[in-house]
Amino acid sequence: MSALAASLRELHRIHQQLSDLRDRLRRGPKQVEAHTVNVTRLEADLAAAQAQLKAGKVAVDQKQLLLKSSEGKVLDLKAKLNSANNNREYQALLEQIAATEMAGSVLADEILEALEQVDAFQAQIGEAQTKLAKGKEELARATDAVAAQAGELKNEVTRLEAELREAEGVLPADVRETYNRMVKSKGSDCMAKLESDSCGGCYQQLTPNMINSLQLGHMVFCKSCGRLLYTPEDLSIGGAR
Ligand SMILES: [Zn+2]
Repeated sequence: MSALAASLRELHRIHQQLSDLRDRLRRGPKQVEAHTVNVTRLEADLAAAQAQLKAGKVAVDQKQLLLKSSEGKVLDLKAKLNSANNNREYQALLEQIAATEMAGSVLADEILEALEQVDAFQAQIGEAQTKLAKGKEELARATDAVAAQAGELKNEVTRLEAELREAEGVLPADVRETYNRMVKSKGSDCMAKLESDSCGGCYQQLTPNMINSLQLGHMVFCKSCGRLLYTPEDLSIGGAR
């Protein structure tokens, strides 16, 4: 039974779990950040829709003023008809009236169109407000969820760190020195399980000599990736099988 293999198996498991937990801890704030970015974007959408509505209303007001003045002009021209000095003047006035009324009718159409646009902008604002409210809700939910999860993850990290110290304490002094150096440089990826007759980290095939040495409980490093190798449970010499 190789005590070293058992220790390395255990240590690798703890390192991998710790690495996974730390990844998840890092991902939490990023999820919140994504929701924050979304809310900012939705706020900008709402502001843009509000600006469009304001501009649309100004356009309607301007056209309505123009129409009013055009209607006034028609009344003035009609009043002048009675005081026309001759037929030519009278005809000219009639033409002016017709032209002004035509322009007024075009304006009236434009006003209708602009009013429809104002309605559309108002509907857009409604949609933008609904989306923003939803985005803010999602942000609040994500913030709460991430905070709650972070608490659990940190507890789990603390528990595993204690487990790790305990498992490390069992390592023989000469092994521990090498192990410490490797963990420092490669982190949780510094070990690999023997898989069939290959390194489980880089899948490079190992020599029979290396496998033999591993099974005898010696420290063996993959020649290709440098990982510290260990045997899976059912390969330890003198184990259950
Ligand atoms: Zn390897």
